[in-house]
Amino acid sequence: MLYRILRAIRGGYGFAAMALFGLLFLTALALVFLLPVGSVVVLLGSILLLVLVWLGSEVLGYAERALARPLLRRETCPCCGGELVRTATSPVVDPALSPPIDPTPAAVLQCTRCPEMFLESGEVFREDPDFRVAARRGAR
Ligand SMILES: [Zn+2]
Repeated sequence: MLYRILRAIRGGYGFAAMALFGLLFLTALALVFLLPVGSVVVLLGSILLLVLVWLGSEVLGYAERALARPLLRRETCPCCGGELVRTATSPVVDPALSPPIDPTPAAVLQCTRCPEMFLESGEVFREDPDFRVAARRGAR
């Protein structure tokens, strides 16, 4: 339950941060005409806030992985409670194409109930769609 709440927060975190900085931009824009010093303060504050927002993102990611790891060890899906199956991924690589930026890991835990896949570190695994297409082309 806590994992799902944290994951939902992490899912919307980027858009919330973007909206916050958009509002700060509009505030700074309005302050240029009303109180020019205020816009400089908002600008400098935004630069410091960027570091805090990045730290918040890192903390959320760490907490999500830490909550998922015990469930993954019991081979239970943190999202739906379904059973996880360890899949060895060894896709066919087309030698004519360059290797993927984020190569497929050796083992992925795949849920049998929902489409989620996890790494052993607790991170959600998202397959590189370009690499998937290249692997299919290579398999033919
Ligand atoms: Zn699941």
